[in-house]
Amino acid sequence: MKNERSKKHRVFQLLRVAIQAAFFFLFLYLMAVTHYPGDDYIGPVERFFHFDPLLGLTTFIATRVFFASFLLAGITLLVTLILGRVACGWACPLGTLHQFFSWVFKKARFLKPKNDGKAGLAWKYVVLVFVLAGSLFTLNLVGYLDPLSFLYRSFTLAVFPFLAFGADAVLDVLYGTGMTTAGRSLGQFVENMMFNTIFLQGLFIGLLLTGAVMLNAWKERFWCRYLCPLGALLGLFSRWNIFKLRIDEDKCIKCGLCNLHCETQATPFPNAEWKSSECVYCQTCAAICPTAAISFPLKPAPAKMTGIDLSRRKLVLTTFLGFAAAPLFRITPARKRASEKLIRPPGSLPEEDFLRTCVKCGACMKVCPTNGLQPTLSEAGPEGIWTPMLVPKIGYCEYYCSLCTQVCPTGAIRELTVEEKVDVKIGTSWVDKSRCIPYVFGKPCIVCEEHCPTSPKAIKLVEVEAKLPDGSIVTQMGPVIDLDLCIGCGVCENKCPVMDKPAIFVTSVGEERSSKNQLLLELF
Ligand code: SF4
Ligand code: SF4
Ligand code: SF4
Repeated sequence: MKNERSKKHRVFQLLRVAIQAAFFFLFLYLMAVTHYPGDDYIGPVERFFHFDPLLGLTTFIATRVFFASFLLAGITLLVTLILGRVACGWACPLGTLHQFFSWVFKKARFLKPKNDGKAGLAWKYVVLVFVLAGSLFTLNLVGYLDPLSFLYRSFTLAVFPFLAFGADAVLDVLYGTGMTTAGRSLGQFVENMMFNTIFLQGLFIGLLLTGAVMLNAWKERFWCRYLCPLGALLGLFSRWNIFKLRIDEDKCIKCGLCNLHCETQATPFPNAEWKSSECVYCQTCAAICPTAAISFPLKPAPAKMTGIDLSRRKLVLTTFLGFAAAPLFRITPARKRASEKLIRPPGSLPEEDFLRTCVKCGACMKVCPTNGLQPTLSEAGPEGIWTPMLVPKIGYCEYYCSLCTQVCPTGAIRELTVEEKVDVKIGTSWVDKSRCIPYVFGKPCIVCEEHCPTSPKAIKLVEVEAKLPDGSIVTQMGPVIDLDLCIGCGVCENKCPVMDKPAIFVTSVGEERSSKNQLLLELF
């Protein structure tokens, strides 16, 4: 009896691992192909996000606008209503990553299974209430802890660049040891993947992912148990699921193995303590039970929500903190005057709407073919940390490209055709006459004018005079900007041969999405 039962559940668990791997690699694949596809238009590579009800809900509450793509999240909720938190146990790529590392740490004996009771489980509900309360006050913080945003951002800004640099090191070894064929194949593969490799704060974001993974050495699936607001939301919906854990009292020998190995502390034993809101239907308990006493029969009655130990006092306090966070996060000069560095991608919503809508996933930064889109730190204030901005010194906005507008899962960047995008002004270019070569040295340089993509060109060459150290004056052709034609793409700044601090640079002023961030004088 025992062996028969174990075999059945081993097969079941193998099936689960296969499905988890399939979802994980689908997520990874969609992320990996979020790059320039050799065409102006890219497919629905951001689709995975639209199955996330937490992103849909918080963005809807914060913006009061429903983004139709998030109708797909209804499927996740429906599945959860019927089957419980299977999305966490069988599909969530971050859950899979945590489970994988929990398994590794167990094998390496860093993680010793222990019975943790229900201590701490309520924290993820606190996080959920905090995020929802913040959204009510139009503060959208969900992107920091939503599992899909967290994983996407971490892979894009830290893991992929790390792998690309790692591959470079391997290539050196392969070529150095004469294995040129293998080197060429690897080099070609890395090139095809078009990883962006330079990111501000990439190290910090990578360390956060490392920290989240390392917590699994302390408690199995730490993130899923204590932190994940999406897990908490799905937990609330899993009360009515039709498969409930049952322990056959006649077979149970009360060994406690099921509790010890439960991935999410759902407390299978005793039966009355089982928390359907915590169970991710991994069925480890059923597989490990030495007497095959555990099963999940059909039982469509509502379960007790014993997992949510959130007292009314805690709930009120957390809601208050969520409300209070909104004004606190907004005590920042960024609201008074736009930062000159905050050059948003073309198609971005006006700043307040943008902050309510962007979930900091990094999809736009992944797809940008020039690596120009970077995560902000202080430029957009505390609520804008890790939202995208163009940093022309790193990469410019390619004239015939509208990819970031196509991959944003929440519509923080409006979808634009290339024809629409070329006319969108995201900033304004300025010539620094104290550094520009024709102005200072009287030498010829037309690099910025040559690269300016607008038609007619926004950079005009006019005769300028330079005073040389010997007192002589030379005349040379130097750049001036036509403010009406400049769209702020930044290619001039990017290509300027004055390397450390370019002699031509772009600031956000004049961006067409803002009526405030404009030159206030009528100049011409
Ligand atoms: S910032 Fe410009 S170049 Fe980068 S993805 Fe967006 S449209 Fe393309
Ligand atoms: S703007 Fe960029 S980071 Fe923000 S939600 Fe859209 S794709 Fe993600
Ligand atoms: S930013 Fe520079 S290159 Fe781009 S349109 Fe303005 S002047 Fe031309």
